Amino acid sequence: MSAPVRYDLAIVGGGMVGASLAVAVAPLGLSVALIEAVAPEAESQPSFDERTTALSNGSRRILETIGVWPDIAAEATPIRRIHVSDRGRFGFARIDAAAQGLTAMGHVVANRVLGRSLWSALRAHANVRVFCPAEVSAITPLADKVALAVHGQRGDAAIEARFIVAADGAQSMVRQAFGVAAEVRDYGQTAVITTVLPQRFHDHIAYERFTDSGPLALLPLADGRCTLVLTLSRALADAALAWTDEQFLAELQRRFGFRLGRFLKVGRRVAYPLSLTVAGRTSAGRCVIIGNAAQGLHPVAGMGFNLGLRDVACLAELLAEHRGRADADAGLLAEYDAWRAADRRGIIGFTDGLVRVFANPFEPVRQLRNLGLLAFDLLPPAKSALSALSSGASRRTPKLARGVALT
Ligand SMILES: Cc1cc2nc3c(=O)[nH]c(=O)nc-3n(C[C@H](O)[C@H](O)[C@H](O)COP(=O)(O)OP(=O)(O)OC[C@H]3O[C@@H](n4cnc5c(N)ncnc54)[C@H](O)[C@@H]3O)c2cc1C
Repeated sequence: MSAPVRYDLAIVGGGMVGASLAVAVAPLGLSVALIEAVAPEAESQPSFDERTTALSNGSRRILETIGVWPDIAAEATPIRRIHVSDRGRFGFARIDAAAQGLTAMGHVVANRVLGRSLWSALRAHANVRVFCPAEVSAITPLADKVALAVHGQRGDAAIEARFIVAADGAQSMVRQAFGVAAEVRDYGQTAVITTVLPQRFHDHIAYERFTDSGPLALLPLADGRCTLVLTLSRALADAALAWTDEQFLAELQRRFGFRLGRFLKVGRRVAYPLSLTVAGRTSAGRCVIIGNAAQGLHPVAGMGFNLGLRDVACLAELLAEHRGRADADAGLLAEYDAWRAADRRGIIGFTDGLVRVFANPFEPVRQLRNLGLLAFDLLPPAKSALSALSSGASRRTPKLARGVALT
């Protein structure tokens, strides 16, 4: 192998979060190595797959500021209202964009569209060197740098970087190489994802419905279809994958009701086993842990990528501030940890709490949550707090989320 090539930043994982970071830091003029195991347009790409993502307004602003939103916008569907309900109960909550003075609560975008836009943007920067398909085969943390061995289809490479970023998903090998333990809790649930065509137009409403067999989300798509995220026990999910289309539509109808009329068609079904993964720390040595490598969440409230994108915005801003100050490297990592702590804790706690409360069959809890949903609908401050939380309002909003460029 030839002599190591030196970079400012090595990003391991070019999925939704790693690719966003590469685009965000590219204008800073840093030399960046991006190492991704699976080509972004490949059928088997685990991040840019058949899913759709509900993007908060804060995420849209970040994507706007890093220059990729115009490309994504043409294929994004606005969410004008969110409707939360509990099957078999009378309590339900509505969050209205217009009532909050917004044109949309967020947007629904296909993950493949995000992949196409992010990768075409990062490929346009000469200071971003892409290794793909390639994997990191060894990591050696040193005092003033990190040494990496990269094993790629076109041969092996040796890299040295001032910082390494773990953006390699919930099972992060980089996180493990730096000895950072993660707490993993299996929810014993599987999300079945597909698209459905309802008889009535969705009117840009996103539905979140809690049922005895788990939460169900319907997100509006541009062509009148909806993305369905159906969370079920493992056994029921296995059965649901095997149901005929007619059976599947009938089961969905029973769980969701007729707010959108009859469900007429269903697309291909794909399963995602669900767990909570929380890394014990967000940095170690010269490594920063972001996105799912730091926290892999239940998709119930659609917050995982939105949170990961805020990791990106904060890290990119600190890298911009610390440019040319190698003596301040430890300070950068400590600042990153401190900045991310409250947002991270809040979203992990909120998402996990939602799963637990709505999975609780204990009658007093059911009645309380019912009252809770009603109270939630009647109390605008509670809704504003949720919509602010979903959009990532925290005490110090990163520049990219305020529309301020880093250069
Ligand atoms: C069903 C479902 C629905 C969701 N819906 C929403 C939503 O509506 N809104 C929202 O905000 N979030 C949502 N999420 C969460 C969101 O998908 C994740 O937060 C997001 O994918 C995290 O991106 P990531 O880049 O951190 O990790 P990943 O998506 O896991 O990507 C990791 C990347 O690293 C690569 N990689 C792994 N190991 C290596 C290695 N050793 N070397 C090189 N490359 C490597 C992988 O190939 C992959 O490309 C949902 C999640 C699920 C499961």
